[in-house]
Parts: sequence; C-alpha cells; structure tokens
Amino acid sequence: MSELELIIDLHKKSQRQGPGSEKETLLALNLINLQQDGDMKLADIGCGSGGQTITLAQNFKGNITAVDLFPEFLDELKETSKKLRLQDRIKTLEASMDNLPFSAEEFDVIWSEGAIYNMGFATGIQNWKKFLKTGGHFALSEITWITNSRPQEIEDFWNGEYPDINTAANKIKILESNGFTLVGYFTLSEESWMENYYQPLESQFEPFLERNKNSFLAKKIVRDYISETELYMKYKEYYSYGFYIAKKTE
Ligand code: SAH
Repeated sequence: MSELELIIDLHKKSQRQGPGSEKETLLALNLINLQQDGDMKLADIGCGSGGQTITLAQNFKGNITAVDLFPEFLDELKETSKKLRLQDRIKTLEASMDNLPFSAEEFDVIWSEGAIYNMGFATGIQNWKKFLKTGGHFALSEITWITNSRPQEIEDFWNGEYPDINTAANKIKILESNGFTLVGYFTLSEESWMENYYQPLESQFEPFLERNKNSFLAKKIVRDYISETELYMKYKEYYSYGFYIAKKTE
C-alpha cells in the first residue's frame, strides 16, 4: 500500500477524519439562521466518512450532496446513512474539490469541515463561490492561529505542513475581499481535537499496524500522528480550528 492508501486505511473507520463535534456543527448551522423550506441544497465538501454530514442531515431540511475524493470514506457514509434511514437526503459524490461538477448558484449552503486546506483557503473560496446562491452561506473550518505570535517550534511545524495557516483576522479578510460578510466565528474546543479526533485515531494504531504487518511506512505514519498530537498538547493555546460562517453578499 502507498502512504496515501495507508492513511485512508488508518482513518476510514473513525467517525471523523479531523477535529470537530456534533455540538460545533450545530452551532455553525444555527449561526446561519436558515429559513428552511425543505427545498434547500447543501454541499458538504471533503465529507470523509460523514460525521458532520449525518448531523447536518438530522438538522437541515433539504438535500445534501456529500463530496469526497476517496470512495472508501463515501462507502462508510453510505452505510451509516442507510442505517439511520437518511439515504434519501444524502447523495454521495466521488469528485475532487477543485473540479466539482456543480451548476452556478446551485447551493444554499456550502459546508466544509477540516478539508478546504487541500486547495488552500483562498483558492477554495474563489473556486466554490460560483456554486453558492447570492445570500447563500459558507461554513468552513480551517486551522487557525489564535494568538498574534507563537513559539518558533510550532510556527515552523505548521508552516511546513500548511503555509496558508493564519490568524482569524487574515482569514476573515480573505472572505470579505471575495464578497462575503462574516456571520459568525468560533474556535473548536479541545474536546473536538482530543476526544473526537486524536484519541479515536490512537485507538486504531494497534490494529492498523497489525493488519499492515508493522511495515516501515505504517510505523512512520503512526509516529507522525503521535508527534502531531504531542505538539497539539504542548501548543494548544496557540492554534485551533476556526469555524467561519459567511454570507455571499456580492
Ligand atoms: N469533513 C470530515 C473530513 C475531514 S479530513 C471531518 O471533519 O471529519 C479531509 C477530507 O478531505 C478527507 O476525507 C479527504 O479524503 C478529503 N479530500 C482530500 N483531498 C480532496 C480532494 N481533492 N477533493 C475532495 N476531497 C478531498
């Protein structure tokens, strides 16, 4: 298996593939304050196995298109949707977020938790904007510096992983300069990182290493996640995921 296949193998049985929680998905949804009429359309881009998709389907009247590049994650979501009898309102779509087969102004809401970084925040916003109706909303979670300065070690780590990392003020500027009005912003709780992401992932390490015969690459992946978790514990007062809710006004 390639490194990417191994990463998918490690993550696919988790409820979430990034930090987040039902409570915070609902908080973001409530900030939009939708006048729901049942015909609304929402796209959930980079949905993974669909932790947030399910919460959305249970609380959003309307249809959801859940997009991911990897069918392994979409298969998990399909299975959960069926179990919960939500399959009629969740359509899965295997596609790349930078080449979506959507029509102009098709959606009332474009949702993306912990995934827009695959394109970069500004590029994602510019690329997806056309699919939103005027007056429609983005709800995007994105890794964010939560203080004005920080120790060099963590600055270097995240700049290496994701050079687009920035403060909320700078992320909000990107939204505004692309024709959006900020409707709400909050940061994800520590629980969303630890209880909902790093700890469930950690519980997968042993079976993952076992089924992949302790290969060099599998061990490297586990080591990388352990050091990312340690960095989070050490530097969590300097970064989190910011949740940005913004309305398309221009
Ligand atoms: N929203 C989920 C998953 C976040 S992880 C959650 O919060 O739990 C990021 C997701 O983006 C993964 O599921 C990954 O498969 C997906 N992804 C990565 N590159 C992509 C691309 N080019 N197009 C669509 N999805 C992509």
